[in-house]
Amino acid sequence: MHNIQANYNLKELNTFGIEAFSKYFCSFENTDELKELLQLNNVRNEEKLILGGGSNLLFTKDFEGIVLKNDIPNIEIISEDNNEINLKVGAGVNWHEFVMYCVNNKYYGIENLSLIPGNVGAAPMQNIGAYGVEVKNVITLVEAVEITTGETTSFKNNECNFDYRSSIFKTTHKNQFIISYVHFKLSKQPNFNISYGAIASELEKMNVKELNIKDISQAVINIRSSKLPNPKEIGNAGSFFKNPVVKNEIVEVISKEFPEAPIYKVNDNESKLAAGWLIEQCGWKGKKISNYGVHAKQALVLVNYGGATGKEIYDLSESILESVKEKFNIELEREVNIY
Ligand code: FAD
Ligand code: NAP
Repeated sequence: MHNIQANYNLKELNTFGIEAFSKYFCSFENTDELKELLQLNNVRNEEKLILGGGSNLLFTKDFEGIVLKNDIPNIEIISEDNNEINLKVGAGVNWHEFVMYCVNNKYYGIENLSLIPGNVGAAPMQNIGAYGVEVKNVITLVEAVEITTGETTSFKNNECNFDYRSSIFKTTHKNQFIISYVHFKLSKQPNFNISYGAIASELEKMNVKELNIKDISQAVINIRSSKLPNPKEIGNAGSFFKNPVVKNEIVEVISKEFPEAPIYKVNDNESKLAAGWLIEQCGWKGKKISNYGVHAKQALVLVNYGGATGKEIYDLSESILESVKEKFNIELEREVNIY
């Protein structure tokens, strides 16, 4: 029996804490339930929004369709040997709880992705990444239900077109598939990556003598907790914009004028600029406009101090885009999904 609710308040279901209502709302815990739902007349004809943890979206208005909340549970071991383990994980499993399960069992590969909010089902969407690790490195297969046909299908890693904060699910196949399970291959042998940012110095501060998965995960948790606003306290969706990857000619112009600009080589022709730095240079860091603004410790993060509308935050992002374009001639791209 499906409990479809009308005029549903989504405020508690998005980490920006924006008050928005959906015409209908329903959650599901397995693919049979989902397939039945998709066949109902009043579901089939409505626009659909698949919701995980609501940590990478911004509601700028009410949603005139049905929000389908993916609550598929379970972590299942598919196979293992002395070197690796294959896991099938429900899309509704909380991402950080899954990371902690792997850390506690010494399954290596996603410890640098500790404390990222949201659910497993959304991880392939934008190929979540942090501290030099991307989830595409450990995903083997994505299972999904096609919205129009209700058929189950699956995508191998190389069919997902994973890229920097991107995949087919965010581009060519957007709004066409509901991810139901994600399969991961993790290593039973340590292969740590602590070269990025502040991880090594945090481990030193923690007085860690011998590298181990729990301490690396804890170091990431410590750094993140000191820099990023906790959505339970201040509404936000993490980085609002992607870091732009631009041609070296553009980078040369910028680094001549701003020798201190952080630049990371991507390949022989392109480099990545830190969007947070570009925004900071335009004077936005820490800017507060009534009850919303730009976070004081990381200019990439837009925040709702309580009661702001999604439209206000969207308009702020538009002003930021315009000033970065004017000062640096670079067009930032929003990472957050706008509704
Ligand atoms: P939601 O916000 O619920 O959904 C995001 C998009 O995916 C929507 O378009 C939705 O329709 C779609 N979607 C969700 N689930 C499914 C599904 N099962 N099938 C099909 N479509 C689906 N991201 C990073 O990459 N790295 C970080 O380090 C990082 N740090 C963050 C820190 C903070 C404080 C916050 C608030 C966010 C951060 N994010 C980061 C962004 C966000 O946490 C991730 O993108 C996360 O994967 C979103 O998961 P979610 O379940 O909340 O997705
Ligand atoms: P940071 O360490 O202050 O670095 C600023 C930016 O410079 C980052 O965006 C990062 O790009 C880039 N960078 C830093 N060191 C790098 C290196 N050695 N090689 C390549 N690029 C490097 O960033 P932060 O804000 O504290 O975030 C730390 C990590 O968490 C980053 O990986 C960031 O992506 C991730 N994070 C993501 C979100 C989100 O919502 N997407 C939110 C918070 C944090 P990359 O972003 O490409 O790594």
